[in-house]
Amino acid sequence: MNNNKTLLALCIASCLAVSAQADAATGYTQTKYPIVLTHGMLGFDKLLGVDYWYGIPATLRRDGAKVYVTEVSQLNTSEARGEELLAQVEEIVAISGQSKVNLLGHSHGGPTIRYVAAVRPDLVASITSIGAPHKGSAAADFIRNVPPGSAGEALLAGITNALASVINLLSSNPSSSPQNALGALESLNSVGAARFNAKFPQGIPTSACGEGAYRVNGINYYSWSGISPLTNFLDPTDLLTGAGSLTFKGEANDGLVGRCSSHLGQVIRDNYRMNHLDEVNQTLGLTSLFETSPVSVYRQHANRLKNASL
Ligand code: CA
Repeated sequence: MNNNKTLLALCIASCLAVSAQADAATGYTQTKYPIVLTHGMLGFDKLLGVDYWYGIPATLRRDGAKVYVTEVSQLNTSEARGEELLAQVEEIVAISGQSKVNLLGHSHGGPTIRYVAAVRPDLVASITSIGAPHKGSAAADFIRNVPPGSAGEALLAGITNALASVINLLSSNPSSSPQNALGALESLNSVGAARFNAKFPQGIPTSACGEGAYRVNGINYYSWSGISPLTNFLDPTDLLTGAGSLTFKGEANDGLVGRCSSHLGQVIRDNYRMNHLDEVNQTLGLTSLFETSPVSVYRQHANRLKNASL
């Protein structure tokens, strides 16, 4: 009798294993072109072994996607970060044997990937930004109120550059470019963002809060974002997004980026119950219990790209 039970248990276990393999074989996330992920300000590829895109690359790979995680300067202008990313995209194209990539960028990663699409459209199949401040961030505008050239500005830049250097040092593939906090701030405030958009307008909505063009120069443009600064009381970074949300004066935001500023190309959704860190499934998967898992949103998007033959 006990032997029969053991056999039954083994059978169930092996049947489950077969079913898991069958799922992997469905190719739900098997896009034609590789998926390339680009982090935001103070971001990284892996920090002490922990993904910036927490659990996302592994999930996408499990169902067939080829995923590359890039690392660029933690703090710099969108153009400087874009040049760094372009070099990595050229490498990925050479390694993968595919002529193009699907670029996904979180936060400052959004303008960074747009730069690559604008200067080398031949290498890009699609652009997807997540919680990106395309029209600037009220939080950056707030910090920009520190008088330029003042001792306060020097102190702020010094602390932020030092923090970025530590993150860079502890990450898997440290970037060799210098940290430039004031350059990052210049790109992320609304005046700097407007200047960037005038040079690289692809996919940017022409109205204050509408959608942008869905396809420019043969490249599809997509975006999504959250509007809930506080989502999980167990996550200490809710303090950061909670404080950041106070700079928005009532406009819907994810704690660091406003709802309308996040719009690029086709807006998949702009009101997820997510804050700026939830958008990359941080911290360590601590997100809202009352919202779709951020990982599922990426999974569905990979399937969207696949269905668009991208
Ligand atoms: Ca969180």
